[in-house]
Amino acid sequence: MSAAPKCPACDTTAKAEIGQAGVCQLWRCACGLVFADRATWCDPYSIRDYYDPANQPVESYPLRVTATERDRIASVRRFIQTGRLLDFGGGIGKTALAAYEAGFSALVLEDSHKAVSDGKAHHPEIEWLEGKKIPDSIADGSLDVITLFHVLEHLPDPRVVLAQIHRKLRPGGLLVIEVPNWGSQMRRLRGLRWQFVLDHHVNHFTSASLTSLVEKSGFQSCAVEFRRTFAINESRPWKEPLKKLLCLLGFGDILRCAFRKTA
Ligand SMILES: [Zn+2]
Repeated sequence: MSAAPKCPACDTTAKAEIGQAGVCQLWRCACGLVFADRATWCDPYSIRDYYDPANQPVESYPLRVTATERDRIASVRRFIQTGRLLDFGGGIGKTALAAYEAGFSALVLEDSHKAVSDGKAHHPEIEWLEGKKIPDSIADGSLDVITLFHVLEHLPDPRVVLAQIHRKLRPGGLLVIEVPNWGSQMRRLRGLRWQFVLDHHVNHFTSASLTSLVEKSGFQSCAVEFRRTFAINESRPWKEPLKKLLCLLGFGDILRCAFRKTA
């Protein structure tokens, strides 16, 4: 057994090794974060483009937003109706497009060169930024909303990213984060065979560990919601009440939290 690594959320030495996921050892900290040992982890997307057709099915342009993206923007609009919204790690831009259609001025930050070049060509109504961090051209305090849908679990140093997000948001601005929910009953049942234990997921959050990390970065929690995924035919109407019931029973394996930047 290797030496216990330090937690990327709170710098405490990890409390327990909980097993092997691919080439990585997973550890749990007293703060609740489960994380891959950075010494053994290597980001598979540092060497290939996530949106390369060899890695990902290609969507046809122009993009069409679905109920999934509209539901994401509905969570934003509980708190802020309009303004400048940046979708961090926004992929091909469907969430940003849903924000644009709801009346926001929408930006996408995305590391995939392919996603950004295709997006610029087909969706000029969105502002496209290529990279892993928000560029200096976006002034501090100039954004009303930043969203991260299935991004924070990929980032080896989430505190650095949250500090930058805090700077770029205006006081009172909104941060919405969605990640797989390590605290779900489904994860307890499946253990390390849970569908979200993947080689590119370096952090695993519960609502408590996510809230603790984000609040330490200068935010205040304002909403915690759960969603349930189904592998196929997401849009079948009869699945919606079933998904809500499963969430009430603790089987919501997607965690969506909203935070306000305090002063
Ligand atoms: Zn910790």
